[in-house]
Amino acid sequence: MSEQTLVIATRNSGKLIELCELLSDLPFTLRDLNSFPLIESVEEAGETFAENASVKARAYAQQTQFITLADDSGLEVSALGGAPGVRSARYAGDGASDAQRTNKLLAELSRQSSGDRRARFVSAVAIANPAGLILSVSIGVCEGRIANAPRGQNGFGYDPVFIPNGYDKSFGELSAEVKNEISHRARALKGTLNFLRSLTAASGDG
Ligand code: IMP
Repeated sequence: MSEQTLVIATRNSGKLIELCELLSDLPFTLRDLNSFPLIESVEEAGETFAENASVKARAYAQQTQFITLADDSGLEVSALGGAPGVRSARYAGDGASDAQRTNKLLAELSRQSSGDRRARFVSAVAIANPAGLILSVSIGVCEGRIANAPRGQNGFGYDPVFIPNGYDKSFGELSAEVKNEISHRARALKGTLNFLRSLTAASGDG
């Protein structure tokens, strides 16, 4: 019997690579939004990661007519009151690069006198069916601190300035294998893996 399709609703290539690796053991054929050229993008206007992930999962599942998984994620910095948070992708304005966002973050943090560099990555993963029903939402967190300067070329986004607790290297320096063990995204997905397996079992596939 052919495998069910699971749409991974992101255009962020760094996220896509990680999600595909983390989901590779599941009996799904994974498709990303590039295989749906006519699809309309969804605005991420919510105030929480869970809200944005749900909006994306629902809208893309309805448009593609496949079960769809969406991740909304970002970096919360304690001394900046949780910023950039849900605005992580837009922190330095539309069209800014990862390096520009990272530099803005380091500049904002250097203006704080507290010396508090604690931060955490948060990921919300939502799954919706083609009728637009949210089937699952799970949250994962990875605690750490902000480095003094960018370090390493691995990963994407804020990875070069994020040092996870228990390590002295940034996600930009750590391997993809280590990041996929401990990341916010890996932790959020752990909450959904059994659920996704149950979907394929229930349909008689796999
Ligand atoms: P969104 O979920 O599409 O709103 O984008 C989340 C943004 O948060 C990304 O563009 C990155 O800048 C940042 N981000 C989320 N997860 C990670 C990660 O694992 N590493 C580095 N940056 C991340």
